[in-house]
Amino acid sequence: MGENREGKMSVMERILMNGHFVTMDPQRPKAEAVALSKGKIVALGSREEVMTLKTRDTEVVDLRGKTVVPGFNDSHLHLLSFGMSLERFECSTFRSIDQLVEGGRLHLENHQIPAGQWLLGRGWNSLTLEEGRDLTRHDLDRISTRHPIFLTRICGHIAAANTKALEMAGINRETPRPAGGHIDLDQEGNPLGLFRENARSLIQAVIPVPSPDQIKAMLLRAGKVCAGYGITSVQSDDFEALSGKDFHQVIQAYQALVTEGNLPIRVYEQCLLPDMDQLNAFLEAGWRTGVGDEYFKIGPLKLLTDGSLGARTALLSEPYADDPGNCGIAVFSQEELDRLVVRAHQAGMQVALHAIGDAAMTMCFKSFEAAQQHHYKKNPRFGIIHLQITTEALLKRFAKTGVIAYAEPVCLGNDLHMVEQRLGKERAEKTYQYRRLVDDGVPVCLSSDSPVDSINPMISLHAAVTRQDEQGFPAGGWLPRQKLTVDQALRAMTLGSAYASFEEKLKGSIEPGKVADLAVLSEDPFRVPAEELQHITVEMTFMNGKMVYSCQQDS
Ligand SMILES: [Zn+2]
Repeated sequence: MGENREGKMSVMERILMNGHFVTMDPQRPKAEAVALSKGKIVALGSREEVMTLKTRDTEVVDLRGKTVVPGFNDSHLHLLSFGMSLERFECSTFRSIDQLVEGGRLHLENHQIPAGQWLLGRGWNSLTLEEGRDLTRHDLDRISTRHPIFLTRICGHIAAANTKALEMAGINRETPRPAGGHIDLDQEGNPLGLFRENARSLIQAVIPVPSPDQIKAMLLRAGKVCAGYGITSVQSDDFEALSGKDFHQVIQAYQALVTEGNLPIRVYEQCLLPDMDQLNAFLEAGWRTGVGDEYFKIGPLKLLTDGSLGARTALLSEPYADDPGNCGIAVFSQEELDRLVVRAHQAGMQVALHAIGDAAMTMCFKSFEAAQQHHYKKNPRFGIIHLQITTEALLKRFAKTGVIAYAEPVCLGNDLHMVEQRLGKERAEKTYQYRRLVDDGVPVCLSSDSPVDSINPMISLHAAVTRQDEQGFPAGGWLPRQKLTVDQALRAMTLGSAYASFEEKLKGSIEPGKVADLAVLSEDPFRVPAEELQHITVEMTFMNGKMVYSCQQDS
């Protein structure tokens, strides 16, 4: 009680009392009060115990019985893209192409975007548009022919561009199809304005890169939104958010924000370096997993090995039930993937791979094995991000290997409406097996993939616990045996994510010696009915002992 690691009594800067602390520490699962000093949790216990540490200089915060959990740690998102999305044309709310065209015109007008400058947006979804089809350049030309326009589909893997953008990028019927990508053509062989996977970069290459100050401003804005949701750590994939794909710029922006003391969250960078030249340049610059500090740290090599289920580009071992003959897209051959994974692993990088389809996951496991054969490391904490279309064999492989499962329950909201169409009933039964993975002892962490899905951890919690979309569909939940308990889900969002960044001794639970990263909730998630979980809000967020968000300041 009241002693720090050196055994000396320290001056308590702040005591949070009358709380219901859910600690994630099996030795002491609950507490009423916590004392914080120098960014760390110094003591916790009953109100009486902790209040004995109070001195004249201690600030006491009365939590009035509110529930406190360790700060949330989103194990996979795109913070810079999320920051950009806060400024961009949001397309997800439109229900028809006509509405979207009208919305685009309004956005140009309201933001006074001059002719020649880009209109960038994301979030459109062919499945929820009345017309039920993808956008083409002809649709976007109705928004403007004087502004170049580039709108990314909700999945992030397909984008539509207007004629002006195609002209600026010099794309015409002669443009060759890029490796790992696809340019859709009309019946006459002219580009339709739809770009899949790697083909998107043909347009992205001509979009001007934001200035260093603009990058910082976007990260800061995104970080503040995170703080408002009780998120104190993120594991973020940002290197390709900028069209120049310059990792130096991203790292410099984060480091500057840390130096200025402005960033209200901690960041573990998932380093997207999809070819050997980029990976080598990164390694030669001295970067490795773990380089950095408690605020910004280099994380794993991140690679995308396939696409998405919505776009039917996730790599399956058997064709799509609703698109016979199509098994999706492999971004790398097995040999290419092996080379990158082995190189990174040998050089001291953790590796976390995006894989949605079962065939993509099988490739990942093979590459992990190749890396270990080449250069054995104890507990390398390899990870697979998304892992949606699992099979019995893959589930066993997760359990056997200890590969980390970066699960994303929030994507169920969209996916549960289409999984059976895409795969057929039988294959669908073995997918999104979050409970099975937890029960098998697989290290599971939760993520939002924001801005693809909502960044709000309470929406993830609701989806994980109910297996329903935000409207409560289907009654009883989809594959209900895969529901997580509230405790399992919260654990995966805190300690589970900390494990994925080798930081489970630093954060993820409320214990003396750990950083004081805490979220104070409006309701107790263990007591509200499961369907209400998504409506819980965050009242206060502490990062490193500092209050970085309060709902009172906000209103
Ligand atoms: Zn992602």
